Amino acid sequence: MAKVLILSGAGISAESGISTFRDSGGLWEEYDISVVCNYDSLEKNEDITIEFYDKRRAEIEDKKPNYAHKVIKELKEKYPDDIAVITQNVDNLFEKAGMSAEDVIHLHGFMPTVRCRDEECAKVYDIGYEALETFNDGKCPECASKLRPNIVFFGEAAPMYEKLNAEIHDCEFFVVIGTSGNVIEVNSMARYSKHSILNNLEPSNTIAERDFSKVIYDKASNAIDIIADDIEAFLSE
Ligand code: NAD
Repeated sequence: MAKVLILSGAGISAESGISTFRDSGGLWEEYDISVVCNYDSLEKNEDITIEFYDKRRAEIEDKKPNYAHKVIKELKEKYPDDIAVITQNVDNLFEKAGMSAEDVIHLHGFMPTVRCRDEECAKVYDIGYEALETFNDGKCPECASKLRPNIVFFGEAAPMYEKLNAEIHDCEFFVVIGTSGNVIEVNSMARYSKHSILNNLEPSNTIAERDFSKVIYDKASNAIDIIADDIEAFLSE
């Protein structure tokens, strides 16, 4: 397990033009999240749920990684075993920055992929930025069951949390970038680590600043050099 864990959320991609949950005017605002992101959304609101994710998949095609994604990619390249990169994001900006699928763990799924709805089959297909129905008529090429967005909906199991739990166990330096802490509780993880940094734009009701060794309220692209310097200093101790 790595000594340093970098956990990111929607805020790290905000400067690349992908809306966070809280931004106004973004695609998320046109839809009721509880209608399209719930465990029963595909059953109850199939068309609008598929449409929502089709739009979000199309939306990320022209988005580019920002300076924060790039610095994290360089850090991971330099210290592959000492740094774990885990994100709540479903976009592919770390991958566009040059990270491989092994380099970054997506806790909540990955937008460019779709998955077979048959749980036994559960095959995953990379469809890039296309609409789900345009890929093999929305059916699994393997077993012909319907496909679904490869996204973890509220109330569904999130198998990648096992990796987060394993990493946090050995983590000595915990970095949080661009998450409000509403979906993942970060305070106890910060308390568990010897060093910790929080970077958001503003305080969040669910994050306790006192649990972190350092707090930076600034854009991730401004904060990332300080974060990288602290990580490098820690790893060379
Ligand atoms: P959130 O929207 O709840 O909170 C965003 C946080 O980012 C806020 O605390 C804000 O202060 C901070 N922030 C905004 N701009 C920033 C910037 N430029 N630099 C640094 N920080 C900045 O996000 P969340 O906690 O990640 O929860 C949202 C959930 O929705 C996640 O589970 C995620 O999967 C999903 N989501 C993903 C994306 C994406 O893939 N890009 C976008 C929106 C939502």
